[in-house]
Amino acid sequence: MNYTPEDKAKWDRLMQMMEETLTNSAQRPFFNIFIKPLKLYAVTQDTLYISGDNAFNLNHMKQRYGTMLYSTVPVVFGRRYELEFYPESEISRVVTHQEQSSLNENYTFENFIVGKSNNLAFATSLAVAQTPGDAYNPLFIYGGVGLGKTHLINAIGNYIARENSNMRVLLMTSEAMTNALIDAIARKRTNELRDKLRNVDVLMVDDVQFFSKTKATQEEFFHTFNSLHDKRKQIIIASDRPPKELPEIEERLRSRFEWGLTVDIQRPDYETRAAILRQKAEEMGIDVPADVIDYIAQSVNSNIRELEGCLTNLNAHANLMKLPIDLEMARTALAGRIVAQAARAVTPELIIEIIAQQYNLSPEDITGKKRSQNIALPRQIAMYLCRQMTSLSTNSIGLAFGGRDHTTVMHGCDRIAEAMEADFAFKKKVEELMGFVENN
Ligand code: ADP
Ligand code: MG
Repeated sequence: MNYTPEDKAKWDRLMQMMEETLTNSAQRPFFNIFIKPLKLYAVTQDTLYISGDNAFNLNHMKQRYGTMLYSTVPVVFGRRYELEFYPESEISRVVTHQEQSSLNENYTFENFIVGKSNNLAFATSLAVAQTPGDAYNPLFIYGGVGLGKTHLINAIGNYIARENSNMRVLLMTSEAMTNALIDAIARKRTNELRDKLRNVDVLMVDDVQFFSKTKATQEEFFHTFNSLHDKRKQIIIASDRPPKELPEIEERLRSRFEWGLTVDIQRPDYETRAAILRQKAEEMGIDVPADVIDYIAQSVNSNIRELEGCLTNLNAHANLMKLPIDLEMARTALAGRIVAQAARAVTPELIIEIIAQQYNLSPEDITGKKRSQNIALPRQIAMYLCRQMTSLSTNSIGLAFGGRDHTTVMHGCDRIAEAMEADFAFKKKVEELMGFVENN
């Protein structure tokens, strides 16, 4: 991602102008010492990285000619740039670091807890990290807020960067990508941006649901996608919903998102939540007793960020009180966060009541014998929620639904699970209903 030939030509022109200005005066020796050694090293979005002989000369140069250089840049480049100067011996390290700073080093595969809800996403991410461009291209990861998408794609990036020091990995949020594209289009510098984007080995775009709606930016991205894909460069996309639920994205782009593999991350089950809590507690260096882990894992099942929030909160509380963490403290400290969930225990009766209400039916309709579609579907949803949200056996659930057989319950649950898989809007609907039950 160093610079384009155009940049280089402009830089040479800049140096020439400096020389013309300075050699007409008694400044010639200074030009030779301070300016002549300067070399363009890299051009990024808004910065020119420039190397010089050593730190001492660079400091002098900045004091004497910094302002002059800075104000000449727009004359030649047609826009302002920040200027950063480093000794030749250091610059590659500095700039490499800056290029990669978009990756969060704290997010790795090692500290990603794998459970039923995310094992597919984890396994495919690892496969992609091990053979970028070969395994699944693009890899499209979707899932709700705080379930680990950003963590996973950073883990892929960190892994690739670690194993292949020559590979260029670029992670951008779709907002940053949109801004870069809009900016380049406005300044008629799309070629440079294209070069930059198309010269990476791995391009990751996070939160693609926020990608620009405008045609021109999507068009640019479309071409970038194609050119990377043609060269078998790895593309990874994270989103809060699957490709076909991204109505703002043009069809041709959306369909390309589906070329490789699409995997989702679901809400973590109890075991995974508890494991994540144990790990985070360890990372934070705090001692959390098993019953407290259990209490939080039972009460908070929305997302992982929320689990972390509970621990941070609890830790702050313990520090303030100068007391060890115990269950009682957890109840007090987390009252505000957990109150909704603790409102009523989740039972089949509660679920039936809430589903009935949502579908304008009576609880008796749900548990009764009528089989019309407008009743059968909510009934099966209610069964499914009982299966997901309580620890009851299908036998007991059958009993709560007017004495139905456990095979009927199993059949109902399967149908809902299948429908959720096939139809994202339906999945959202069921999850929303789950939320109603949780927050009853
Ligand atoms: P998303 O991008 O899906 O909204 P993030 O990746 O930002 O979610 O995850 C939210 C927080 O939860 C992060 O701090 C992340 O490290 C943590 N997290 C998510 N999934 C896991 C996991 N499986 N194991 C450990 N930590 C996780
Ligand atoms: Mg994210």
